[in-house]
Amino acid sequence: MSNIKKNIEEIMRKLPDDVLLVAVTKHRSIEEIEKVLEAGIFDLGENRVQEFREKQEVLPQNIRWHIIGHLQKNKVKYVVGKVFLIHSVDSVELARAIDKESKKKELTTDILIQLNVSGEESKFGLDPNQLDQFLEDISALGNIRIKGLMTIAPNTKNIEDLKDIFTTTRAIYDKIKENVNGVTNIEMTYLSMGMTNDFDVAVESGSNMVRIGSGLFE
Ligand SMILES: *Cc1c(COP(=O)(O)O)cnc(C)c1O
Repeated sequence: MSNIKKNIEEIMRKLPDDVLLVAVTKHRSIEEIEKVLEAGIFDLGENRVQEFREKQEVLPQNIRWHIIGHLQKNKVKYVVGKVFLIHSVDSVELARAIDKESKKKELTTDILIQLNVSGEESKFGLDPNQLDQFLEDISALGNIRIKGLMTIAPNTKNIEDLKDIFTTTRAIYDKIKENVNGVTNIEMTYLSMGMTNDFDVAVESGSNMVRIGSGLFE
């Protein structure tokens, strides 16, 4: 546990200044999370709504919470207005549910579209071929703002395969960014990709937001 600070320092040294570290704190204790905060990291990622709610209740207000796991529509009400960013929006239905709840609460929720670039069936995420239709379908929703993309690479050590996934995602991100003229609810800012075992490749390939869990706590 005493290594958390050192692990964070080591990772921060490897990250360029313009890459944001989201510390993934799922399954971690409050004591462990306090060490992360002491090291100066206030962006925390959780993948379960229930766990997020329990932790938010007891931890400081200045934390920026990120929902990174699959989100069910019936849980949307527990996160809208309480999180900095939802990384895992992968259907029009979910986007609509977030928009509706945000409207009710009179706010705008920032979201990322999770893309399944590798095509693995076990992974959540929108098929990139459906992205244009998705963007068209959500273009009229006034209470969500698309802030970028998120992807999870396959669990492989093959650097070329990883690069392929990450550079493909970066190219899609750039293309949307170039074409958003006039679409008011799209504001491409974040490309969320890279975890403990692949963040170096992700950053090399153009990520500007990494989600690192196990590497902080080992
Ligand atoms: C758990 C998780 C991470 C962090 O993974 P590590 O390999 O522990 O760094 C990142 N993103 C998502 C979506 C996760 O569920």
